Amino acid sequence: MSKYWSNLVRRLQPYTPGEQPRRSDITKLNTNENPFAPSPSVMAAIQAQLTDDLRLYPPPEADQLKNTIADYFSLRPEQVFLGNGSDEVLAHVFNGLLRKDLPLLFPDITYSFYPVFCQLYDIQFEKIPLTSDLCIDVKDYHRGNGAIIFPNPNAPTGDLLALDAIKALLQSNVDSVVVIDEAYIDFGGVSAVSLINDYPNLLVVQTMSKSRSLAGMRIGYALGSSELIEGLDRVKNSFNSYPLGHLQIAAGIAAFEDKAYFQQTCNQVIQSRTSLTGSLEEIGFEVLPSKGNFVFVRHQHYEAAIVAKKLRDKGIFVRHFDQERIREFLRISVGTEDQHQQLLDTLKNLINQHLMK
Ligand SMILES: *Cc1c(COP(=O)(O)O)cnc(C)c1O
Repeated sequence: MSKYWSNLVRRLQPYTPGEQPRRSDITKLNTNENPFAPSPSVMAAIQAQLTDDLRLYPPPEADQLKNTIADYFSLRPEQVFLGNGSDEVLAHVFNGLLRKDLPLLFPDITYSFYPVFCQLYDIQFEKIPLTSDLCIDVKDYHRGNGAIIFPNPNAPTGDLLALDAIKALLQSNVDSVVVIDEAYIDFGGVSAVSLINDYPNLLVVQTMSKSRSLAGMRIGYALGSSELIEGLDRVKNSFNSYPLGHLQIAAGIAAFEDKAYFQQTCNQVIQSRTSLTGSLEEIGFEVLPSKGNFVFVRHQHYEAAIVAKKLRDKGIFVRHFDQERIREFLRISVGTEDQHQQLLDTLKNLINQHLMK
């Protein structure tokens, strides 16, 4: 605490991201990064940006990337908003679209950045409990609200809502903005983007961090009606006119253009998720059905916090949330086959040697 801080800053309890260890010998399955490198054409596009032109500001609207994304989703450029990672996009969404007189609704178990944004922007919210099997039931969102947000698939559970359920939610909340955070949609889900032209209250947020292997580049975007996007532009242009630099814009365009690589790496992640699920079940884990690039698991005998710590001691990082209802679970990112082998070998050793205490 410092006397120089504003009252708001004194009150803040910031989000804690998963650890980013410096050591390269870590098996890193804790922050849902893509195990595959970015497309080779992304690397080439970034290289091509290393010129004297870096002295120039980037185009403030990143028009070329905006047009590429609009084309990809068959939308108009006025329906696309870009930001420095989807966390920044979400910050502007909370500030510009979710700050209402009635409470914002989101699940009790969800992306833990949402309540942090609410605190930053002084937004009142109501947490809607997931069902007993940790799923979202859209009927629970049929109540007075200023707006609604949740990830689909949900994080950290991996549970996917079908498009019909989202449609029903949109229909019963025509006066509220409904934000679907699709950070993990490309790993086997069906995107709500196809509903955008029918529902002016729908905003879909996506990121290039997970399915496009570009967490280090910080590129996120929102897709929706031009009126929602114009609202976001007003916030962005009152905050930072240049959220994306030359390298990010070039990398983003190249990643969207290499559809084959994207398809292939997503399919590989989906396959690896299936095999990881089977292997974990074989050694006594319950694995929730996941459509993300992660699995949410609990062991019938061992405490999640202890398993996480034992793995960490062996250089394997997974994520444990010390939070009611999910304290018994671990979230494990889908990695390479090698990483899975290391994880499974280590787990088997710990179990066989009775070291999980
Ligand atoms: C990873 C993640 C984000 C943030 O992604 P960035 O674009 O890297 O900021 C947003 N929402 C959810 C649910 C996520 O899991």
